[in-house]
Amino acid sequence: MKPYPAPQAGQALIRVHGDLNDFLPLNWRNTWFVRPCRGRETVKNLIETCGVPHPEIGALFVDGHPVDFDELVQPGYAIEAFPIASAPEAHIALRPPLDDKRFVLDTHLGRLTAYLRMLGYDCLYQNHADDADLARLAHDEQRILLTRDLGLLKRSMVVYGAFVREIIPSRQIVEVMQRFNLAPAPTVFQRCMRCNSLTTPVSKAEIEHLLEPKTRQYFDTFRRCTACGKIYWQGSHYARMQALLEQAIREGERREAKGERREANGERREARGER
Ligand SMILES: [Zn+2]
Repeated sequence: MKPYPAPQAGQALIRVHGDLNDFLPLNWRNTWFVRPCRGRETVKNLIETCGVPHPEIGALFVDGHPVDFDELVQPGYAIEAFPIASAPEAHIALRPPLDDKRFVLDTHLGRLTAYLRMLGYDCLYQNHADDADLARLAHDEQRILLTRDLGLLKRSMVVYGAFVREIIPSRQIVEVMQRFNLAPAPTVFQRCMRCNSLTTPVSKAEIEHLLEPKTRQYFDTFRRCTACGKIYWQGSHYARMQALLEQAIREGERREAKGERREANGERREARGER
């Protein structure tokens, strides 16, 4: 018995899995729903018009068979979309793999940018950039676009990207670390939070005159940004980032443990579209 209703003439069935449901109206979440077929329309376009931005999609299936974004929707199709994190193994890659994780962030994510840079990741951020600039940068430099703007994420130029669900920056960094499996980069604490350039060690004697009295008293090891000159030491930022890292790792472990329980219950089978 098929787990979905028979579509009427001229309709296709859709079901999205996992956190792709975040983008759907409540009555379409975690269930099959019907959409009219409107002639020559790709699966990518149909799913996106339902609300799901294409960069969030990791795998597409029609009647249990893997398809890519350009598959044309036919009446009677049962279409499933999976998020990147839980894409079934036997899927067609929707985009080339990305080895080097570099980011571009929208203008509302300044704090998150600073956290990611602290973690060592190359992040572009300009508080005057418009949507067209951000989409072009993401495309031309093969960067992952992080945004809270769905319209921006749906731009066809954007290949890699994610909608940041959390509002609070300290939660956003945990979310992004988990989503992209980010460990601290080799350049952790060696990238300028203000301008994204790398920092280099600098002797205390050279910069002593620039320090506040307390900093001069308590710290001896410093780095300086090669581009903007900002000076860094292992102060409060450092402790805060350490705490966030530990939190992300703990939550990742909790999630993994929960996932294993689900697997034991067979829910993963259903999530792979096996019927
Ligand atoms: Zn700098």
